[in-house]
Amino acid sequence: MNSNKKITLIIFSMVTLLTLIIVALVAIGSRESGYEGAKKRAYLTAEIVKNSLTSHMVNGNMHQRDVFLDSLERMVELNELWVTRSPKVTEQFGTEATNELPRDDIDKKVLRTGKEEVIIDESLQEASLRITIPYIASAMDKPNCLSCHNAKEGEVLGAISIKFDIHEDRLSNIAILLNIIAIVVLFLIFILIFISRKIKPYTTSFDSITKTLKKVHEGNYSVRAPEGILKEDKEAFMWLNEIIEKLETVLTGIERNLTAFVHNRSSNLNNDKLLTAKEIIEDISEIYNYKKTIETDLTKDDIYYRLIQVLSNKLKIKDFYIFENDIQKDERKIIYGPKDKKPCCNLKKDIKELCRAERTSNIICSENFPEICRVASCKSNKEYICIPFVINDQKSITIHILCEDEACIKHNKYQIGIIKKYLEETKPILESRMLMDVLRQRNLVDGLTGLYNRKYLDEFVEKTMPKELAQDTTYVVMFLDIDYFKMINDTYGHDAGDAILQKLSKTMQENITNDEFIIRFGGEEFLIIMRNPTEESAQELANRINQEFSKIVFTFNNESFSKTVSIGYSFFPRDTDQFWKCIKYADLCLYEAKETGRNKVIRFTKDILKNGEKSSY
Ligand code: GH3
Ligand code: MG
Ligand code: MG
Repeated sequence: MNSNKKITLIIFSMVTLLTLIIVALVAIGSRESGYEGAKKRAYLTAEIVKNSLTSHMVNGNMHQRDVFLDSLERMVELNELWVTRSPKVTEQFGTEATNELPRDDIDKKVLRTGKEEVIIDESLQEASLRITIPYIASAMDKPNCLSCHNAKEGEVLGAISIKFDIHEDRLSNIAILLNIIAIVVLFLIFILIFISRKIKPYTTSFDSITKTLKKVHEGNYSVRAPEGILKEDKEAFMWLNEIIEKLETVLTGIERNLTAFVHNRSSNLNNDKLLTAKEIIEDISEIYNYKKTIETDLTKDDIYYRLIQVLSNKLKIKDFYIFENDIQKDERKIIYGPKDKKPCCNLKKDIKELCRAERTSNIICSENFPEICRVASCKSNKEYICIPFVINDQKSITIHILCEDEACIKHNKYQIGIIKKYLEETKPILESRMLMDVLRQRNLVDGLTGLYNRKYLDEFVEKTMPKELAQDTTYVVMFLDIDYFKMINDTYGHDAGDAILQKLSKTMQENITNDEFIIRFGGEEFLIIMRNPTEESAQELANRINQEFSKIVFTFNNESFSKTVSIGYSFFPRDTDQFWKCIKYADLCLYEAKETGRNKVIRFTKDILKNGEKSSY
């Protein structure tokens, strides 16, 4: 309802209520005053009748009192008039005036109680008032009542009953009321005309300002208020429109500039440019904080950890995987994934060819086309989104988002822009950490065999091993040396020796798991470190490498031959509480193997120690 209608309705209701109150008050007042007037006339008539009857009595012409009473009764508005004698008076003056006996119960009651009775008789057509007033004996009256009547002071001598017709009074009151109502209605019409002429322009302006501001509040900054009718509000409308225009220009500019930063994420969420700008600024500030934080992170793993936090905590992506792809080797490894949900694809190799997201460099969403990715087969989830992101010509990342329903996929689709922004900010820092990792790795890896070097072993013993020992990890150290290796160099040349070293390294790598690693300890001496070994698993690995290597046939200078290795191994901390001692014990076992014929595997026992060493064991 607009303001004009509201004001009109309020004024109309108030005036109507006021009219009803006035009419009610006037009606009650005039009714009361009509009755009071009738009663006053009754008292006057009663007094006249009393005095006249007294005069008739004193003058001795009581027989003419009926003539008097009849003439009185014929007066206008007087329906009936009769006088009643009390039993005492009847007793004193006889019963000749039988028409002065009580006519009804009201007369009897008044004679008995000495109190006047007023009876109002109203109907739609008629209205009358009957009043019965007692005459009380009093010595103070003139003439003194007690001088003629055998009565005591205060006794009831008789009563007069009068009936008035007050119908005429009522009609005149109704006429007054109708006049009042007519005046009020005229007044009301006048007010309503006044409102529509004078107030309407103001209320119309107010309504159109309210309507305009409501649209602005809802985010529609293209709306303008129509020009006002009145001179006074023309300026107000002009200012209002200028403010809205300014807001629109500024916010459009902000949105255009800011969305470039965060890939138009927020504009998908609402149409209000102000809220969009607020959300984009919040995003930018959070991205800035993220960037500042990862800049000071030392390792690649730390950076991945921050990215995981952002995706799950800030962007509220419930289930996702982060894959790191090695572009050169065309391999993939999982950096992060939910424990309870498997990815929709299990690719580890041939990523460039098989992963659609990586091959096309496009975001792949299962919602776009049925079975869009042919290698994806989701078990617990229905939908997926794959976002590829190249870090450098060595590495790329694939964010693989899993969804169970449409709401989830919709939510995550709107996050793609911001995910890409976070990835963009991550890229240079991750790239530099990856480069550092490569350099570090190069420093820790032997160039000929690709195996870890002694420096790596030093770092492992210093940094990783204490943490693993705290988790009750145990180890076995295997010392491995090629039998009669010098002879190869001497006979076939150094390159042949290098080739055999590489072949042995490959054989060892093929036979170990993720819980084991190999160190090139010296020229043709190697260490294999095994985590949480059992007697059986350690022996089994050592024997396997020994046997596998011996099966390889080398051909140099048209001569074919095989080589063997000797292996000694010792457990840590089972055999010794010092790791370096454990290496030494393994070396002693190796020496024992060499001494006792080579091409064999020997587990450390106390017997291997020389006498002096036994005492310090
Ligand atoms: P044993 O059975 O007692 O071990 O006899 P061996 O001939 O293998 O003796 P030893 O282990 O002492 O021989 C080590 C030889 O390995 C000496 C060295 O010429 C050779 N060597 C060390 N590093 C390299 C390398 O990087 N390349 C090549 N081709 N040879 C190496
Ligand atoms: Mg050797
Ligand atoms: Mg040697």
